[in-house]
Amino acid sequence: MTEIIDGNAVASQIRDDLTAAIETLADAGARPGLATVLMGDDPASQTYVNMKQRDCEEVGIESHHVDVDGDASPAELYDAIVDLNDDPDVHGYIVQAPVPDHVDYREVIRRVDPIKDVDGFHPENVGRLVAGDARFRPCTPHGVQKLLETAGVDTEGKDVTIVGRSDIVGKPLANLLLQKAEDGNATVTVCHSRTDDLGAKTRSADVVVAAVGVPELIDGSMIGEGAVVIDVGVNRVDADTEKGYELVGDVEFESAKEQASAITPVPGGVGPMTRAMLLYNTVKAASLQEDVVVDL
Ligand code: NDP
Repeated sequence: MTEIIDGNAVASQIRDDLTAAIETLADAGARPGLATVLMGDDPASQTYVNMKQRDCEEVGIESHHVDVDGDASPAELYDAIVDLNDDPDVHGYIVQAPVPDHVDYREVIRRVDPIKDVDGFHPENVGRLVAGDARFRPCTPHGVQKLLETAGVDTEGKDVTIVGRSDIVGKPLANLLLQKAEDGNATVTVCHSRTDDLGAKTRSADVVVAAVGVPELIDGSMIGEGAVVIDVGVNRVDADTEKGYELVGDVEFESAKEQASAITPVPGGVGPMTRAMLLYNTVKAASLQEDVVVDL
């Protein structure tokens, strides 16, 4: 029987585990605070921001929000960032991507105070992660690691093939799994759009992580027997549903399930973990800034 890895259940456990740390911080007068910054009115981004605020409320993290007009100058967004860097009630914040085309996201990230960079995207935090001294693990890769851990997958000595080399998923996950650490020690192959014979690379892997953004790119014929499959992809495809679309992953679930020993569904796999790990990083940020030791 193939195990369906339940991201909702794992995320819920992580949120429960965070409550004690949040209360410890609150008792010390330092309730963790997370801010979201949204530039423009992209509906998908609005939904993500709303979900992050709701998650905060559920666990007792103070949530803050800043809207910046989509037509505003980059300088106006930078001003909002300066304010958040200076706000002692905000321990962490994220600038929801994508930002409008006239704004350089890298320039935005460089202005975030690294100690409040709960996405883990600032160059200082990227450098620390690569050096094996991560302060904030980026939320999606960290969530993937937690899912593997909960599913009892020991990555030590395993061949892991990651499809996708983005700065937010593929690259940081490759670095984390490569670390000389209990939840690392894997032999990692990173694939991308120029990879030759992708199927050979995925078929030979013990663990396949798909973070591509191409609906159902990876089917059962590309999965080795007994492999563990983690599907990061979230793709909207037209469907005869009320909303007119449905969400599918980068993996063709049914055929991959036939081959895999364990697999994450979409939705309900990596997505809820990304959200839970943002809360985790916010609590960690509060603990670091307030100098209050908590059990994480
Ligand atoms: P990006 O678009 O930044 O990166 C996609 C990567 O996939 C690139 O490295 C690209 O290669 C590679 N790629 C594209 N087409 C192919 C192909 N045919 N064969 C092999 N590799 C290919 O995407 P993200 O990393 O931001 O996101 C990936 C997916 O994960 C998306 O569906 C996104 O929605 C989802 N996502 C889900 C999250 C969650 O919480 N569940 C969080 C973040 C993302 P190249 O570099 O050569 O262009």
